[in-house]
Amino acid sequence: MTSSEILKQNAIIQSPLRLEVLEVLIASSKPLSQREIEQKIDKSHDRVTMYRTLKLFVEKQLIHRIAVSDNLVTFGLKTENSDSGADHLHFHCNDCDNVFCMPQVPVQKIELPKGFVGANTNLIVNGICEKCNKEIKK
Ligand SMILES: [Zn+2]
Ligand SMILES: [Zn+2]
Repeated sequence: MTSSEILKQNAIIQSPLRLEVLEVLIASSKPLSQREIEQKIDKSHDRVTMYRTLKLFVEKQLIHRIAVSDNLVTFGLKTENSDSGADHLHFHCNDCDNVFCMPQVPVQKIELPKGFVGANTNLIVNGICEKCNKEIKK
């Protein structure tokens, strides 16, 4: 599906920035921070419009927001495995600061006490990614 078809399917009005943000995220194999997305876009835009675009995509569930810390928030496309609404694991590399979606890792359902209703789970494992690990061993 092209980015314009995705916007159409989700009843989002097309704009050059919206198309470009979506294309950047489709082309990326990993979630990106707002700054990384901005760096990949050549069209001039202001930060507020960019922020609103990302917010809209999150609301429409085109992408998901992964808050690693106050300083690091990334946005990734919705993976096919997360369509069921199941939360998946995220990995954050302490070395390169990259964030990875790991829907392939089974996550145990969290049983909450009676009366508590969970909306979403934020599962982040911090560590060293495969690439950085290899570089350390060299
Ligand atoms: Zn790394
Ligand atoms: Zn993810």
